[in-house]
Amino acid sequence: MKNVVLLGSTGSIGTSTVKVAEDLPDRIRLLGLAAGNNAGLLLEQTRKHRPEVISISDPAKAGELGDALGVSTRVYSGAEGLLKLATLPGADIVLIAIVGTAGLQPALAAIRAGKDIAIASKEILVMAGEIVMAEARKHGVRVLAVDSEHSAIFQCLDGKPPQSIRKLWLTASGGPFRKTPKEDFPNITVERALQHPSWVMGRKITIDSATLFNKGLEMIEARWLFDIGIERVGVLVHPQSIVHSMVEFVDGSMLAQLSTPDMCLPIQYALTYPDRAPSGRVQTNFARLGSLTFEEPDTEKFPALNLARRAGETGGTLPAVLNAANEIAVEAFINHKTNFPQITETVQRTMDAHKVVRHPTLDRILEADAWARREAAK
Ligand code: NDP
Repeated sequence: MKNVVLLGSTGSIGTSTVKVAEDLPDRIRLLGLAAGNNAGLLLEQTRKHRPEVISISDPAKAGELGDALGVSTRVYSGAEGLLKLATLPGADIVLIAIVGTAGLQPALAAIRAGKDIAIASKEILVMAGEIVMAEARKHGVRVLAVDSEHSAIFQCLDGKPPQSIRKLWLTASGGPFRKTPKEDFPNITVERALQHPSWVMGRKITIDSATLFNKGLEMIEARWLFDIGIERVGVLVHPQSIVHSMVEFVDGSMLAQLSTPDMCLPIQYALTYPDRAPSGRVQTNFARLGSLTFEEPDTEKFPALNLARRAGETGGTLPAVLNAANEIAVEAFINHKTNFPQITETVQRTMDAHKVVRHPTLDRILEADAWARREAAK
């Protein structure tokens, strides 16, 4: 039985994690749940799963939840609540699925408290991969991937060391605008950008999949998770989203992990690792799929990939700046304040204006994050 704390239980990854826990009641117990604003769903999840502790961003909502639940569940709020949950004495693993940067401090707190962490929130490793991985090594805990691409690589590597890798290949669906001519990009509406061809996800990551910033963030994430230079992380467009990623070994052999797309699969693997638990959720029928295709990404149409490569190669505070500027630009696009190409332009301008700090402390990273948000907003 694994005692799981789930941060971001009301989101897309969070609700899939709850489904996995419901599939495996003898293996997974939800010990703590945290949400942002959705008090109604958090209350429903709490009544059903009876976690010891829950947390919600707004203290007033925490008060209302406390009244509704009585003494059976401790209710916390805000950033402090997330830290309490991340360090719960009874927790074996903390799964972080909070959109944005709010998951970084809880991730570090969980590691320092000796907990394994399962990371969906890519911002954590993009901003502070060097610090997070060093802390995990120091405290002897695992950092497990929830993202389907990184889970695929983790499954293919199966414990092989970085020197056995020639290249990691992240696959990308290519997003909804793979075939849209670049001249039409200024006319892309928010509604069209929110239509992902193969995955149903939160809004931020869906827009990131349309610009390909999502793949860029994943390149940086892979660099830290698997301790490999970013020049050895490649991207291949694979519109069917069946091959979730691949490892090319030094002897030329390639291993891939395949399945029909369903986030429950990588979530379950992170929570049951090193075991595999039976599940009927994912069935992959190759005869019905017919063919799988691959193509080079078009970096002229999607400059996000090269911006992320530059941030990953430069390192220091630049990945945090890319991440923060992108968050501001995506928000502006969703609020109809910019057009689609301006997301990438904003990120590039903010990166160009940044003075990189090498091997930054956490405080310098958070300063760079705050600076980039102000700069991008301009
Ligand atoms: P969603 O927008 O669907 O969900 C975000 C979750 O974060 C919600 O539960 C939200 O709560 C919660 N949240 C936001 N702010 C806070 C806060 N301050 N404190 C506590 N909880 C907070 O996003 P996704 O589930 O799609 O994505 C989550 C993360 O996982 C992202 O970093 C994304 O990049 C990554 N990811 C997602 C994948 C997917 O398939 N969706 C795949 C791989 C990675 P509420 O709703 O109550 O406001």
